Amino acid sequence: MKMSKSFKCLSVLMIAAMLVIAGCSNNNAKSNNAGNGNAASGNSTDSKAIAKIKERGKLLVGVKYDTRLFGLKDPASGKVEGFDIDISKAIAKHILGDENAIELKEVTSKTRIPMLNNGEIDMVVATMTITEERKKEVDFSDVYFQAGQSLLVKKGSPITGIEDVTKDTKILGSKGATSIKNIKEKVPGVTVLEFDNYQDAFSALKAGQGDALTTDDAILYGMAAQDPGYEVVGKPFTDEPYGIAVQKGNTAVVKAVNDTLAELKANGEYDAIYTKWIGKAPAK
Ligand code: GLU
Repeated sequence: MKMSKSFKCLSVLMIAAMLVIAGCSNNNAKSNNAGNGNAASGNSTDSKAIAKIKERGKLLVGVKYDTRLFGLKDPASGKVEGFDIDISKAIAKHILGDENAIELKEVTSKTRIPMLNNGEIDMVVATMTITEERKKEVDFSDVYFQAGQSLLVKKGSPITGIEDVTKDTKILGSKGATSIKNIKEKVPGVTVLEFDNYQDAFSALKAGQGDALTTDDAILYGMAAQDPGYEVVGKPFTDEPYGIAVQKGNTAVVKAVNDTLAELKANGEYDAIYTKWIGKAPAK
């Protein structure tokens, strides 16, 4: 049978088009098969962040190493444990299908944003309050823990709450924490000694270098549990909603984190993790 030249041309074009379409759908199938595919949404640039995590095969998470209940390293076993660690593992499981596909790196209140933004870690899960100021530098997930700033004092201290803090009170805190700025706003002129981390601040309190240590109540309860000579006093005087921070523009990673949080809340695991570390169920 003799085909006309134009019919031949058309057939070649149609076959070429079919090959292109087949190639595209094959690629789609491949990317959907990588990992569990849950987080493969978002535009192509920010999905690259998810692809990078999958290629590496592990999630790099910045957590605290000195904050009992949230992220504390046991010097004997070398294990880091806490609420933030359990949340991080759940995110690794969601993205990579394995809660142990994770590498934890120590951050402090001061180092967490620089470490995130220079690419040392994929995310910060470290008692970090969502603030408008920080939103200029990083993106945040939904709120995953609700804390409030409070005071830790030696038992028997005349300070029984924020009302007793005057400009003559010596307050201890951690560099880079919201607590420093907050207390200076509440009590103008107050002296605040800033330490590199909470362990150093607590040691300074015990050494009598200050009258009260200030940060989130949840962190202070962890310290009080470590040493019965100290107590948390007064009512929390700020709102500290914790969020998980990622580099700006990484919407696919934020989505993966938010999907994980929603799953944990829906299947009861969030309540179990909360109760395990905080000792009571979260307020509804
Ligand atoms: N949540 C507060 C903050 O993000 C205090 C706790 C901390 O320093 O990590 O600054």
